[in-house]
Amino acid sequence: MTGNEVTLNNGVKMPQLGFGVWQVEDDEAEKAVATALEAGYRSIDTAKIYFNEEGTGRALRGSGLPRQELFVTTKLWNTDHRYDDALRAFDDSLDRLGLDYLDLYLIHWPVPSQDLFTEAWRALEKIHADGRARAIGVSNFTAEALTRLAEEFGVVPAVNQIELHPYLPQRQLRELHDKLGVRTEAWSPLGQGKALLAEPVPAQLAAKHGKTPAQVVLRWHLQLGNVVIPKSVTPARIAENIDVFDFELDDDDLAAIATLDNGGRIGPDPATFAWMG
Ligand code: NDP
Repeated sequence: MTGNEVTLNNGVKMPQLGFGVWQVEDDEAEKAVATALEAGYRSIDTAKIYFNEEGTGRALRGSGLPRQELFVTTKLWNTDHRYDDALRAFDDSLDRLGLDYLDLYLIHWPVPSQDLFTEAWRALEKIHADGRARAIGVSNFTAEALTRLAEEFGVVPAVNQIELHPYLPQRQLRELHDKLGVRTEAWSPLGQGKALLAEPVPAQLAAKHGKTPAQVVLRWHLQLGNVVIPKSVTPARIAENIDVFDFELDDDDLAAIATLDNGGRIGPDPATFAWMG
């Protein structure tokens, strides 16, 4: 079995486990995405700022899979929040991907200091209304920014893609998402594969279930209800990371993972992040 689907707040179905391509060069992204599609992934997460939409698109088109079986996400960069810029950036991303619609388009960061994310959201609503993105959402939105969109606009974001792993389980933001009908999507779900996967708790649970530490962490996400998009350029890991649908963590396992919460971020604080790339 290669996966579950979740239903977003507008009825669109999205694979709960997908594949991320941050920090992967364009040619390497083409290879990694092709490997992922062969392994059974159907959801791919890229962004304009990853500079690999073209390679990603070549792999999607080269797979021979019907377009409607794929779920493709890309993101609006921080320099493109003005209405006309956002519409143009969307067209440019679609061109690079070689697609004529997206499944999910996200505002990558709110950049509160710039205070243009509501203008960007107006553009995303237009793109959605025109049927060019089946769903629209946000990424790295704080409770404040998300509440503002939910209060001021007709379309509530379908997802908020945020840093989330056992060190940073984001309990409060997940509660707000549940209240607003926003699906939580976890970035760096493996904590970027370093210290987290070397912790004793995932190793112990891996031994208990006959799985690997990465599989235990991904299973934890799935049982919380998160959408996850682990990244790997290593074929064995790409296969390993999707082989997580044949076991279940029990309450004791989940309690053990909860002890890893130390509030530690790997990435920047979205309340202040304003990098323009
Ligand atoms: P992940 O938590 O997915 O970790 C990726 C790292 O873990 C890579 O170095 C990879 O190595 C390693 N790894 C993968 N699988 C395993 C495994 N089974 N065992 C051991 N190590 C493993 O980090 P990312 O930061 O890449 O996050 C995932 C995706 O989330 C991104 O690719 C991107 O799509 C998205 N993202 C979005 C952000 C946003 O602002 N919206 C910010 C950051 C990420 P290797 O590749 O060498 O195999």
